[in-house]
Amino acid sequence: MSDIRDDAERGFHALYGAPPDGIWSAPGRVNLIGEHTDYNGGFVLPFAIDRRTAAALALRDDRLIRVASAFADELVEIDLGELSPEHLSGWSAYPLGVAWALGQLGADLAAVPGVELFIDSDVPVGAGLSSSAAIECAVAVALNEVWHLGLDKSALARAGQLAENTAVGAPTGIMDQTASMLGEPGAAIFLDCRSLHSQLVALGLDEAGLEILVIDTGTTHNLAESGYRERRESCERAAHTLGIASLRDLTVAGLAHAREVLDDTTFRRARHVVTENQRVRDVVRVLATEGPGSIGDILDASHRSMRDDFEISTPELNLAVETAVSNGALGARMTGGGFGGAAIALVPQAGESLLRVAIDGAFAEHGYQQPDIFGVVASVGARRDT
Ligand code: ADP
Ligand code: MG
Repeated sequence: MSDIRDDAERGFHALYGAPPDGIWSAPGRVNLIGEHTDYNGGFVLPFAIDRRTAAALALRDDRLIRVASAFADELVEIDLGELSPEHLSGWSAYPLGVAWALGQLGADLAAVPGVELFIDSDVPVGAGLSSSAAIECAVAVALNEVWHLGLDKSALARAGQLAENTAVGAPTGIMDQTASMLGEPGAAIFLDCRSLHSQLVALGLDEAGLEILVIDTGTTHNLAESGYRERRESCERAAHTLGIASLRDLTVAGLAHAREVLDDTTFRRARHVVTENQRVRDVVRVLATEGPGSIGDILDASHRSMRDDFEISTPELNLAVETAVSNGALGARMTGGGFGGAAIALVPQAGESLLRVAIDGAFAEHGYQQPDIFGVVASVGARRDT
């Protein structure tokens, strides 16, 4: 299989008639645990995966930005002087939004030359593996270098988030971009979404004979956007009623009081966030003390919390998780924002093929579309390739 970076280079050459100045790439991510905790100022534990989005780029002599992607059959062009969120829409709001966001974070866009970009990717789009952060971070590292901006990785992650929040209009947290920027082989990133302090945590999967499988159900529900907003609003309402800045400030011990003052649904939303924050910390501790073979029950508990309290799982995701756990997985959970997308399962390397057969069989039996099942390996974050 040809590497996605070579594909981006070839695509660039074919479209623009000359080779690019360089190739930059950034990975998608899997969130091992910590779902819907980021915008609550809480904890997450994602890792960058061995699926990447590559950006081939060359500088221009004028002030135009031109961007194309193998994913979308169109070339979008805009003058640097006209870059603003109102002028951006569709898929190109991600890369062009990053260029705009870099200006918001201090880059002098009046002084930089135009560029042309071609993007290619093997991160599944819309599967909850953050193809959005991958495209943002690939473009952010590329522009940071060719425009000599000197922004550090956390500023580039913020540029990606600002693009997504303001140019695309998706109110997402900082987790995805942080994972895509800071990933390292064999490690997850323990991120405190309030202080933005991050720490690499060794996963130790290979040493333990384990791996993480992604089960992409291939489903996206139109509820995803409204459901996400609604959950976010619920969390804000809970914090407001409880008189705290965010649900990060509520502890498991404080849940008894929360139950008295919140309505049942809002309480269950809050309980998911509070217990999920605790589970992230538990996984970090258990990885360091007992190793990855002992985190399975915590992953299972996370799934139940999302299914029953936060109510963001789907029948397909539940089937994937249940089938995985009853066929040798040590633990499994849906990952990402919910309402479709992918689940992950922690499995012994030797048991992978059995599990594949079981999941394919269960999905066929239910008349669901066959899921895409593949292993992921914790990989390096955004960088220049050539
Ligand atoms: P996820 O991040 O889970 O994959 P999102 O809905 O957040 O899903 O982001 C997917 C969107 O990001 C796509 O619909 C498209 O607009 C944009 N996108 C992602 N990858 C690419 C790509 N390689 N080329 C063009 N657009 C992309
Ligand atoms: Mg995304």
